[in-house]
Amino acid sequence: MTVPGKPSPRLDADAAPFWEACRSHRLQVQRCTACGQVRWPPAFLCPRCHGRDADWVTCSGKGRVYSFVVYHKAFHPAFEGDVPYVVAIVALDEGPCLVSNIVGCDPSRVHCEMPVQVTWEDRPNRITVPLFRPIDG
Ligand SMILES: [Zn+2]
Repeated sequence: MTVPGKPSPRLDADAAPFWEACRSHRLQVQRCTACGQVRWPPAFLCPRCHGRDADWVTCSGKGRVYSFVVYHKAFHPAFEGDVPYVVAIVALDEGPCLVSNIVGCDPSRVHCEMPVQVTWEDRPNRITVPLFRPIDG
């Protein structure tokens, strides 16, 4: 699916490997090589041990809705066709939380602790965004 006109994420040096993996439909987060802490968002220092070295681990793509809100108004023209849509904090099974959208179901069905699975939205300029859909369909 290609969606024109939506804003692109900022591709800074810390997050570049994340977005590169998204292009291949792999959800990756950083892991501190000193203490093993898995973290999001990416950063140059571990928030737990302040270690500077990290690698990237591929997540299962599964998680649960931690919190959410239903948008009934588009605050950017590119999202007008999406309203109402769900913006959620998804707690990945690996621990970190991501802000994303819940798609593939009526917004009224979304609830906290809902099991979700990553799905991908390919956008122009080689940007692929991780979204989440209910595991039960
Ligand atoms: Zn650490």
